[in-house]
Amino acid sequence: MAATLPTIFLSHGSPMLALDSGAPGKFWQQLGRELPLPDAVLAVSAHWTTETPTVSSTVTNATIHDFHGFPAPLYQISYPAPGAPDLAQRVTGLLKAAKIPVGIDPARGLDHGAWVPLRNMYPLANMKVAQLSVQPHQDAAWHVALGRALAPLAAENVLVLASGGAVHNLREMDREGGPTPAWAANFDDWLAKTLTAGNEADFIDWTRKAPEPFRAQPTPEHFLPIYVAYGAAGEKPKSQQLFKGFTLGSMSMAAYRFAA
Ligand code: ZN
Repeated sequence: MAATLPTIFLSHGSPMLALDSGAPGKFWQQLGRELPLPDAVLAVSAHWTTETPTVSSTVTNATIHDFHGFPAPLYQISYPAPGAPDLAQRVTGLLKAAKIPVGIDPARGLDHGAWVPLRNMYPLANMKVAQLSVQPHQDAAWHVALGRALAPLAAENVLVLASGGAVHNLREMDREGGPTPAWAANFDDWLAKTLTAGNEADFIDWTRKAPEPFRAQPTPEHFLPIYVAYGAAGEKPKSQQLFKGFTLGSMSMAAYRFAA
């Protein structure tokens, strides 16, 4: 039996990182090489938001180019990772057992929250991937519970890979890539300190405990995936920051590893 895998949260940044991935790309490539090879990945993406948790069950993942106004080569990228219908069934069973409502989407492919980092981690596109949606109308505790229901996956050699943004405010990003403003650095630092200290209560209560929470996360969908990764690592997991950095001034690229 394979060892229990950690769970991962990473920030996927701008779609432009698919063309010029820089330091985050090098980190993702290294992450793919260093993690034990999973049998499949459950990608929890900020770019799939639904009323009810939904898992994709396709056999072959279409590449979804879910962004507008970017250079043409971005729309030509294909990442045809195989789907994971067996994993979709397993996820459905685990969520039902936890009395969490769940839907299955047989047509959904991979959005850029999933394929931009996955293309760096597993460049041959030979890793089976299913996606799981987030529910922006639900809070952090809901997403921890969603993750917790999926905690058995780590011992079944399935990698729970949550993809969002540790600081994500599109209105305040700086296309010239200027210095990181204090409000963004403060939120990023608060997150790192809170997680590293194991302060689960403050982490879950981020809308009251974090500095300028609604400036760092004007809408919660890019932040909620971290709670799924955290929950999926089991009770009171240990947190480790794997990557720290910013792109476009204020957009954090922070990544974390969670393990029991
Ligand atoms: Zn995004």
